[in-house]
Amino acid sequence: MTVKTNLLDLDRLQLAEFLKEIGESSFRAQQLFKWIHQRGIVDFNLMTDLSRSLRAKLSELATIRVPAFERESRSDDGTLKWLFPVDNANSVESVFIPEKSRGTLCVSSQAGCALECAFCATGREGFNRNLKVSEIIGQLWLAQNRFPEAERMGARLDGSDPSRAVSNVVLMGMGEPLTNYENVVHAVRIMLDDFAYGLSRRRVTVSTSGIVPNIDRLREDCPVSLAVSLHAPNDDLRSQIVPINKKYPIADLMEACKRYTDCSQGGAISGVKWQRRGSPRDFVTFEYIMLAGINDRAEHARELITATRGVSCKFNLIPFNPFNESGFDRSSEKVVIRFQKILIDAGLVTTVRRTRGDDIAGACGQLAGQVKDRRTPRSGRSRVVSASL
Ligand code: SAH
Ligand code: SF4
Repeated sequence: MTVKTNLLDLDRLQLAEFLKEIGESSFRAQQLFKWIHQRGIVDFNLMTDLSRSLRAKLSELATIRVPAFERESRSDDGTLKWLFPVDNANSVESVFIPEKSRGTLCVSSQAGCALECAFCATGREGFNRNLKVSEIIGQLWLAQNRFPEAERMGARLDGSDPSRAVSNVVLMGMGEPLTNYENVVHAVRIMLDDFAYGLSRRRVTVSTSGIVPNIDRLREDCPVSLAVSLHAPNDDLRSQIVPINKKYPIADLMEACKRYTDCSQGGAISGVKWQRRGSPRDFVTFEYIMLAGINDRAEHARELITATRGVSCKFNLIPFNPFNESGFDRSSEKVVIRFQKILIDAGLVTTVRRTRGDDIAGACGQLAGQVKDRRTPRSGRSRVVSASL
């Protein structure tokens, strides 16, 4: 028995290739893409502008397998968290944050994460596997199809695109997107494709703990908005709370950020041209989690100004979101504001992230799903970095 190809795993160019291979016109990829991603139709028989013979052939050779929710949790602030199983051992989570002028979907890229950042619930759980393209884009497919048309229309009060519940996607859910590089890039291409979700590059953000070589690849392959989880101003501290720093230290990371924002050339993604003006690559957003007594002193802020000198950037300070036995505390509001003021006074645009969905463990760093850890236990692996750092 031949295994049917899941069309949700393919971006439009790959779908065109698949159609060619089965003796069909690659032009049909546009129609199929619209049916799947814009109309949410997964039954070939309902795709009425495709010939009967093509529908029969597709039913025989292909499938459109979308993930399904196992559970939905709704926060008091309107944030929704969805848990969906991706196989027998693992479930991942995505979070939808509706606001007046936009709807942001926070998407997972891996079942767990292997990078072990000290303050992150996902990192504590261990790592099982990379998500497939269909499992990444499936989160967006599900979110778009979760709301009936009428509800979607009401969701946009400011006149922005009313047919879409999701206006922004951030790859800030479970996992490190740049260690699942190929699948993430294909999924992002589908997000940007005008025959699918048509999101602009500015409205899709890849968040990374700093995988330097893949920041460079992303710049070439698919230059969307980039957020870098910095969290500490020097290598000593950063290596303790973001261990990948030992491999890609701050100086190398800053050089990669400069290269990312320096795009003198143009390029093309899925046939769509981009150019320097107004590019999301104009700045990198540095995320900085505020951990009481660890990285939140005035001297840390001043050190940060020096460490990031020459990088076109904005700062986003993230209040630490607690989880069981995390071993960390959130910095007080007073401390966060003092930290913010030092950066602002140095001319750096600095915002403080408003925490959403923390009552349903849906805030940054609280996503855990269910992950069957496949790593071999290592001796000396530090699980909790104490507050005495
Ligand atoms: N692996 C990627 C993306 C997923 S994490 C990355 O690390 O960037 C998304 C963001 O949530 C990162 O900035 C991460 O550092 C932050 N985060 C992790 N744990 C957190 C916590 N407990 N409270 C607040 N933010 C957290
Ligand atoms: Fe992984 Fe990001 Fe969590 Fe670090 S913060 S463990 S890179 S998901």
